[in-house]
Amino acid sequence: GYRKGGYHAARPGDRFAGGRFVAQRKLGWGNFSTVWLAYDTLHSRFVALKIQKSARDYSHAALHEIELLSAVAQGDPTNSKCVLRLLDHFKHVGPNGHHVCLVTEFLGDSLLRLIRYNRNKGIGLSRVKEICRSLLVGFDYLHRELGIIHTDLKPENVLLVSTINPAKDPVRSGFAPILDRPVGSHYRGTVISFSEKMLKMRARRAVAKISQRRVSLGGFAAEFEKERNLDGISLKCKIVDFGNACWANQQLAGEIQTRQYRAPEVIIGSGYSCSADMWSFACIAFELATGDLLFAPKNCQGCSEDEDHLALMMETLGKMPRKVTAVSLILFSLWSAIGIPPDLVFVVVQIAISGTRSKDYFDRHGDLKRIRRLKFWPLDCVLVERYNFTEADAQGFADFLRPILDFIPENRPSAAQCLKHPWLN
Ligand code: ADP
Ligand code: MG
Repeated sequence: GYRKGGYHAARPGDRFAGGRFVAQRKLGWGNFSTVWLAYDTLHSRFVALKIQKSARDYSHAALHEIELLSAVAQGDPTNSKCVLRLLDHFKHVGPNGHHVCLVTEFLGDSLLRLIRYNRNKGIGLSRVKEICRSLLVGFDYLHRELGIIHTDLKPENVLLVSTINPAKDPVRSGFAPILDRPVGSHYRGTVISFSEKMLKMRARRAVAKISQRRVSLGGFAAEFEKERNLDGISLKCKIVDFGNACWANQQLAGEIQTRQYRAPEVIIGSGYSCSADMWSFACIAFELATGDLLFAPKNCQGCSEDEDHLALMMETLGKMPRKVTAVSLILFSLWSAIGIPPDLVFVVVQIAISGTRSKDYFDRHGDLKRIRRLKFWPLDCVLVERYNFTEADAQGFADFLRPILDFIPENRPSAAQCLKHPWLN
């Protein structure tokens, strides 16, 4: 929360970076940060301001994010690769400490909102295709050109490019920037001594005052409420949140990704690469098309969430090949890459097996130890029987998804290969 080492409590009208950026309203938040719409007085444009929590680990993470996003911006001068554009960064000193701040382009609502606004019914295949194309352009750039793994692809971390973006169309969006703290708000003077509860209450009041001034909020929310359909909304989108991203050759964490979008090799602990992002991508495509999570694992009696997750995958995609359940892929590929002599292979494989969790979950036949009767229900059948897709639609979509959901990461198509798939063309 809003305490030492935590979030910075910003308020509309607050100025940052020596007065250059003026906070307008809060756009969202994550575990690490709050994100504000801000007005850049130097360039007369709206931007998004990501204000990181101040504790040292968060600052490190933000500096890492800046490093990656700088590389992203440098390699894409025309800003056409469907990845969030970093514009600037600075440090802000507040009552809770020193906060690293990222200034980025201002985007619209997340795919999560898009899914919810469609009442979890799916958004239609032509729109799914549109979004898939953007995501694949982004991943082709990140993976092939930059060697960056995002590691946390999920609907919250993909933002639509707003069509009523006040930065581009201030007149149509009816948005005039707030340049001072709202008159009559309680925000004059120091806030250091306020209790957290009081701060929140006062923040709410200040926001209420601003909305009385009929300041349009931008983004898609209002549009969706009005129209309840997406006609005429451009479905270009961008990949955001590089807080957990890493260079493919310098992986940090062993466990990556948000549960439902986690790839099997990450669950088993056998090493991962860019292809782990592709798995998450396929999960998102399914979710956009159906409104439901592809895999929603739970803790069940006598088995862990990991085991339930693996069981769900096998029910939809079939049995895992022995190569996956038996040995560590990363060591296997290391071995083949540097050519360890054959008599060492046995040792390497032994180390590999002990280094993964697969032997905890699978018996030597490659069956799950604790979850027995699996009901195989393949993807195309799920689409027809559960989501009322036509046979043709189900076939086409399953044809596109199925190779990306390969249990063997090396077999998954790259983003560039996916872009060539007939389903998208
Ligand atoms: P965290 O690392 O804390 O998860 P994110 O970068 O994911 O932070 O941002 C948190 C939320 O803020 C996003 O889910 C989104 O709703 C909003 N947000 C982030 N960046 C932007 C942006 N450039 N434009 C509009 N909203 C944004
Ligand atoms: Mg996030």
